[in-house]
Amino acid sequence: MADENFDEVEETTVETFDVNYSCLRCGTIVSNTELSRLPEIKCICGFRVFTKVRPPVVKTVKAI
Ligand SMILES: [Zn+2]
Repeated sequence: MADENFDEVEETTVETFDVNYSCLRCGTIVSNTELSRLPEIKCICGFRVFTKVRPPVVKTVKAI
């Protein structure tokens, strides 16, 4: 029989997740670290609406 001690296996990965945002008007990609440095959330073009750019999920999906 196999031991099932999975309780302490959980690893804490403290990693700064760099989320990128894309300006809805000009498409400029800004990271959240850059945005947090700005006095206000605003693109270089002056637009203030951003969409979150998701990092590509590395996942192998078999097409059936
Ligand atoms: Zn812009």
